[in-house]
Amino acid sequence: MKTLKIAIQKSGRLNEKSVELLKNCGLNFENYKSSLISPVSNFPLEILFLRDDDIPEYVQDGIADLGIVGENVICETEVDVAYLQRLGFGKCSLKLAVPNQANYQSLSDLNGKAIATSYPSILKKFLADNNIQSEIRTISGSVEISPGLGLSDAICDLVSTGGTLKSNGLKAFGDVLHSEAVLIGRKGEENDPLIIELIQRIQSVLRAKETKYVVLNVEKAHLDEIKALLPGIKSPTVVPLAEEGWVAVHTVIPEKDFWGKISQLKAAGAQGIVVMPIEKIII
Ligand code: AMP
Repeated sequence: MKTLKIAIQKSGRLNEKSVELLKNCGLNFENYKSSLISPVSNFPLEILFLRDDDIPEYVQDGIADLGIVGENVICETEVDVAYLQRLGFGKCSLKLAVPNQANYQSLSDLNGKAIATSYPSILKKFLADNNIQSEIRTISGSVEISPGLGLSDAICDLVSTGGTLKSNGLKAFGDVLHSEAVLIGRKGEENDPLIIELIQRIQSVLRAKETKYVVLNVEKAHLDEIKALLPGIKSPTVVPLAEEGWVAVHTVIPEKDFWGKISQLKAAGAQGIVVMPIEKIII
């Protein structure tokens, strides 16, 4: 039987969340820090632990069938791979930033200036798209210190909280790319049944993460109002309570509208609202 290979980051920001996602999909494997490859005991899959910069090419060249990597790395390596699923973690933006005291008003003020970055391909394309001629200085790390050292006038670097920019006396000056971790595969292999099965497992975990299970009590007289607020997966489950005239309503609520919905439910007569996490939602 065929065994798939999935490449994930060996160490770094995406490693822990990638391992957690695969484990939540019910895959049993050891998270070996010392070895490059870990077999999954209950699914025909091997996990390859690699440097994230290498993952897109390994997938493109068929050394791995699948990979979990930041979109920024895919764009920088300019590989031809299939985007199979956005994964909702590792979110960051590739931003331009300039020293706090710089008096630049618009992107065109970067004409003729030097910009330091570890993402020269993405930056080159962005500058060309915006008709700006800057000098790109490629640096492999600690890009944020280059204006202070006189190496560049601006930087283009990954930012999530903005804390690193702040502590280096820099301010954001425009977004170049938004990125998150994605599942990638080889083009043309998207219909492989094992890949489809794995994507479905991943989607059921992601769906569950975005949703809460809610149980509430309401007087029958207010049930229609409550039902109108709750779409559920198909429709809410309604069961009678031991106390005459009351029912319990079971449903799922998307995390993003959670607090708004809870206020509406309370206003419509909901009582004793219990909220629980969901492990998986299989549709
Ligand atoms: P690492 O190798 O540990 O620096 O992590 C690499 C990946 O984490 C990057 O390629 C991004 O996709 C993602 N990431 C998320 N937030 C940030 C951030 N603030 N700085 C750098 N990488 C980030």
